[in-house]
Amino acid sequence: MAFIKINKQNFYHNLNQIALKTGSVEKIAIVLKDNAYGHGLELMGKLASEFGIKHAVVRKTAEAEQIRSLFETILILGDSIINDEKYSFTINTLEDIKKAQKGAKVELKVDTGMHRNGIALDELDEAFALIEAQGLHLVGVMTHYRSADELSSEFFWQQKQFERVKERVKEAGFRNVRVHSHNSAAILRTKSFDEDLVRVGIGVYGYSELPDSFDEAVLRPVMSLYAKKISTRALSAGERLGYGGDYTAAEDMTISTYDLGYGDGWFRGESRQPYVTSEGLPVLGRVSMDSISLESEKDEVCVMSDAQTAAKQFGTISYEITTALSATLPKEVI
Ligand SMILES: *Cc1c(COP(=O)(O)O)cnc(C)c1O
Repeated sequence: MAFIKINKQNFYHNLNQIALKTGSVEKIAIVLKDNAYGHGLELMGKLASEFGIKHAVVRKTAEAEQIRSLFETILILGDSIINDEKYSFTINTLEDIKKAQKGAKVELKVDTGMHRNGIALDELDEAFALIEAQGLHLVGVMTHYRSADELSSEFFWQQKQFERVKERVKEAGFRNVRVHSHNSAAILRTKSFDEDLVRVGIGVYGYSELPDSFDEAVLRPVMSLYAKKISTRALSAGERLGYGGDYTAAEDMTISTYDLGYGDGWFRGESRQPYVTSEGLPVLGRVSMDSISLESEKDEVCVMSDAQTAAKQFGTISYEITTALSATLPKEVI
C-alpha cells in the first residue's frame, strides 16, 4: 500500500526554528487539526510531546480526546463548550457564550478584520458581561490574521486592533488571560514576539507560503509520499495507456502501475499537464482511483517529497496537498 514517511529530524528542526522566534518551546501551540494536516494526529501529537510541546490546537473535541494525555492544554477551535480541566474552547459568537456549560474554560476570538469568525469589536463589552454571567473562565483572547502571508500593511493594521483588544480585556478586570494571534506566516515574519503563545500549523510541517522577499527561517518538509509497484508491463510504440487512452507511447517502453490514486487523496490533476514526481517521472495518462502509471520498474517510488513543489504543479497550496491525503495511509517514522 502507498504510505507516508514522517521525517522526525525535519519536524524537530522546524519546531526549533519556531522556538527561536518565540524564545521558548513553552510558547508553541501545535495545530493538529485535520489529522495534523494529513500527517497523522496521534503520531504527530506524540512526536511533538516528546519534543517538549505542551499545548495543542484542534478543531473538535473528538480529536482532542485522541491526544488528551500528551498535552497540558488543548484549544478546541469549533465545538460545543463543555467544562473540562484540560480543554479550552473558542468563542466565535455571542451565542456560543450563552450555550456554554458553566465553569468551562473559554478563549475569546475577536474579529480584527478577517470577518470569518469571532466577536466584533463593538460586541466586546457584551461578551465580557455574558462570560461573567455564565460563570465561564476566560483563559485566552485570540485573533487570526487575514493576510499575514502577504506584503501589505493590513497585517499591521490588524495587529493594532488586537493591541486595543488586549487593553480592553485588562480594563475589564480579567487576569491570567493568555493572548495569541500568530499563525505560521505571522511568527515567521515577526522580529520581536511578545505574546504568550503561537498557533503554528503549516510551518512545523515544513512549509511557508510567504513571498521570497521575507527573510525567514529555512523549514524542511516532514512528509514524503511513497507508492508501491502493483505490476510491470511492456508498452509498444503507439499503444495507449489508462482511462481514455490519454497517453500514447512514442516508443517501446517498460511501465509499472503503482498503488496511489485519487482515492488516497492524491490529486487527479490534468493528464495533458502531468504531475512530475520528485524523482522526475511524469505520471503517464490519467490518475485512476487507486493507481498511477510511471516509466519505472522500481518496487517503490517517491511520488512527493515536498508538498509545496507538488502544490505549484497542481495550482494550489501546500496545505491542500497534505490535508487531502487519506488518514488511512500508513505512516512510517524515519
Ligand atoms: C489553522 C489555524 C492556525 C494555523 O495556521 P497555519 O497557517 O497553518 O500556521 C492558527 N490559528 C487558527 C485559528 C487556525 O484555524
